[in-house]
Amino acid sequence: MKVLVPVKRVVDYNVKVRVKSDSSGVDIANVKMSMNPFDEIAVEEAMRLKEAGKATEVIAVSCGVTQCQETLRTAMAIGADRAILVETDVDLQPLAVAKLLKAVADREQPQLIILGKQAIDDDCNQTGQMLAALLGWPQATFAYKVAVDGDKVMVTREVDGGLETLALNLPAIVTTDLRLNEPRYVTLPNIMKAKKKTLDVIKPDELGVDVTPRLKTIKVSEPPKRSAGVMVPDVATLVAKLKNEAKVI
Ligand code: AMP
Repeated sequence: MKVLVPVKRVVDYNVKVRVKSDSSGVDIANVKMSMNPFDEIAVEEAMRLKEAGKATEVIAVSCGVTQCQETLRTAMAIGADRAILVETDVDLQPLAVAKLLKAVADREQPQLIILGKQAIDDDCNQTGQMLAALLGWPQATFAYKVAVDGDKVMVTREVDGGLETLALNLPAIVTTDLRLNEPRYVTLPNIMKAKKKTLDVIKPDELGVDVTPRLKTIKVSEPPKRSAGVMVPDVATLVAKLKNEAKVI
């Protein structure tokens, strides 16, 4: 069973991004970029399936600028067997990514595609769902536990009321939630090994996909600043303020 894992290069979760002065977006020049954390969980899960003898090959795929090769090398250092970069300078939106991933899936014929539930830069939470629709495959989002059993994959999902378990026929789409696993640390020997693994670069045109953005960002702004709080000397004053000023009790 081949497993395809789409990985996105995003601003590192430790970086506090600044909004550009013209409100057109956030400034990502010279900031640290990393693999989207949910995608690290996806690569880790694919590796565990391979180590358990359920998967035969794990292929990482990224869509975006040349530097996404670094993200793919990280995926291969975690253990992915090879990687594909769909290279473009166009600012990709989820629908374009889903179309590119569908074209890659048509070529590679994986039985399972594991994506992150969302990318932490745009918080879209759309790509996996769109890809499932384009491929016509079943999907289980927000995975907490994944178990491949013959021609089925059992996925326990995090839902509002608790956990829900679904049985999907393969091929299928799974998107990872935070508690699915704890990704392993990348070791130096594995970073060195990853340098020798195959990384193919293709262009959207070769896949016959039009990646032109369909959505336009009107404005990006900072969240409103919180007004400063007040220290009160005791509980009685606090209760009085809540009653008389805030009028919440
Ligand atoms: P999103 O729908 O943008 O929140 O992204 C959900 C998931 O789709 C991510 O966690 C990745 O697994 C995948 N994905 C999104 N954008 C890309 C990209 N440019 N390249 C590869 N995978 C992507």
